[in-house]
Amino acid sequence: MLKYTAEQIETITAHAQQTYPEECCGLLLGQVNRCQQPQVRCLVKVWQTQNAWNLEAAAAMAELTETNQDKMTKIRRYWIDPGEIFQAQRQAREQNLEIIGVYHSHPDQAAVPSESDRAVAWSSYSYIIVSVVQGKAQETRCWCLNEQNQFEAEEMLSLTAQS
Ligand SMILES: [Zn+2]
Repeated sequence: MLKYTAEQIETITAHAQQTYPEECCGLLLGQVNRCQQPQVRCLVKVWQTQNAWNLEAAAAMAELTETNQDKMTKIRRYWIDPGEIFQAQRQAREQNLEIIGVYHSHPDQAAVPSESDRAVAWSSYSYIIVSVVQGKAQETRCWCLNEQNQFEAEEMLSLTAQS
């Protein structure tokens, strides 16, 4: 389960609309309660990143997925620079947080993970996907990998709605 506030989701959907028709991406910083099953991740900070998708990333991805390389544009892919991840990690630690997931957008596509999303996914992360249709954010969904390494929907709980 992922706990979030309405403001955090607004930040993510605004970013997704800004970069349309390209994909946006960013990191989710927060805390994880590992005592509970399934794990509860609490989103504290949304960390926007550049979409660093380029030929280098495409080559790395091609090795991972064997899928066709004809979609090498930011419209279909995202890639977060490892340097940016390192920086986010360091700041997170200073605030007693950790990276709990990744968000990205799907321009004119459903908020459902693609095969290339699965190829680079980590089992300990939550994946928020925003579907942006004609420049407007539509659906926001959250996913995580199960033990078979397949994505399944992760429950999202708005803290704002609760209080
Ligand atoms: Zn995707």
